[in-house]
Amino acid sequence: MADYKITLLKGDGIGPEIVNQAVKVLDAACDKFGFTVEYDEALLGGCAIDAAGVPLPDETIAKCKASDSVILGAVGGPKWDTLPGNQRPEAGLLGIRGALGLFANLRPSVIFGSLKSASPIKDEIIGGNLDIMIVRELTGGIYFGERGRKEVNSIPAAWDTEMYSTEEVERIARVAFDLAMKRNKKLTSVDKANVLESSRLWRETVIKVSEEYPEVELNHMYVDNCAMQLVRNPRQFDVIVTSNIFGDILSDEASMIAGSIGMLASASLSGGKLGLYEPIHGSAPDIAGLGIANPLATILSVAMMLRYSLDRPQAADAIEAAVAKVLETHRTSDIYEEGLIKVSCEEMGDLVCKAL
Ligand code: NAD
Repeated sequence: MADYKITLLKGDGIGPEIVNQAVKVLDAACDKFGFTVEYDEALLGGCAIDAAGVPLPDETIAKCKASDSVILGAVGGPKWDTLPGNQRPEAGLLGIRGALGLFANLRPSVIFGSLKSASPIKDEIIGGNLDIMIVRELTGGIYFGERGRKEVNSIPAAWDTEMYSTEEVERIARVAFDLAMKRNKKLTSVDKANVLESSRLWRETVIKVSEEYPEVELNHMYVDNCAMQLVRNPRQFDVIVTSNIFGDILSDEASMIAGSIGMLASASLSGGKLGLYEPIHGSAPDIAGLGIANPLATILSVAMMLRYSLDRPQAADAIEAAVAKVLETHRTSDIYEEGLIKVSCEEMGDLVCKAL
């Protein structure tokens, strides 16, 4: 029996191409560090709609629950865009997060030295190195709150609700404090406590949890200020923890600082070992099947999986180092710079394996 069981959700568009490269790199890491992985595949998104009539078949949930971790490519595409909201591929994505209890979304924003010029932020602002970790609450808040439509003075209106319980805030705060302990021991909690009652409860609760982590320096920031500070002085941040909606927006902003969408990994955690690891980009239907997709975000997601779910930090470090090395000389077309060698999706996977 293998040491770990991994479910692959390749999905749609470029999903299969990039996951295949990530598997290749994981296999190379297994050989180098002496552990074994067994794979199973399951359907999610458009491919599941085509084969089983629903974006998230029960079998997919069962397979994911029975594994140590899940690697996801991406879902969606124009073929399914006209379906009603709850039958679209993206509904499968929300469904699997809920079914696996993945309440914490980790999105690192890291700039590899050789890719600095891809960032829209000036060199002197980024400095030598940028490494921010955004921890976003993923299963609560306004995206899951009650909503509706009504008429106010005969004019159509709509409403959504932001609600957090202390329990929800405590568990996401603990994930963030634990991460801060493994990094630079600095945590910024982002809210809108000057206006929102739910944010005031968020802030009170985070302060309470901070008593368990006396070594971590905690500060609070309003979300509007944080959006500004991320481009003004991103180096001030180590770990940021925030609600579902604020995290959605801030993590996209932070990812842009890092330059290319094809480079950014993410992890969704349940508090236990099981996690779902995926690139932050979508299924890129415009380049699907051309063999030119950048597989590095998915490969870096595998590094996160090794670190956060499989407890193989050395293998994770080695994959990240291999990616950094390859980037000095080789690039896929989305991050290509003159003077370097342009490679395909598959060649990039091979190069990372070789560097490993
Ligand atoms: P996208 O991220 O798929 O693509 C945006 C742009 O970035 C495109 O030009 C694409 O070619 C490029 N790009 C993305 N990933 C790349 C990579 N690895 N290498 C090179 N270039 C890359 O976003 P979109 O076009 O808004 O969405 C396309 C589909 O993906 C939609 O159906 C959307 O709903 C879905 N989507 C899925 C997820 C997910 O599965 N987690 C996330 C976002 C969007």
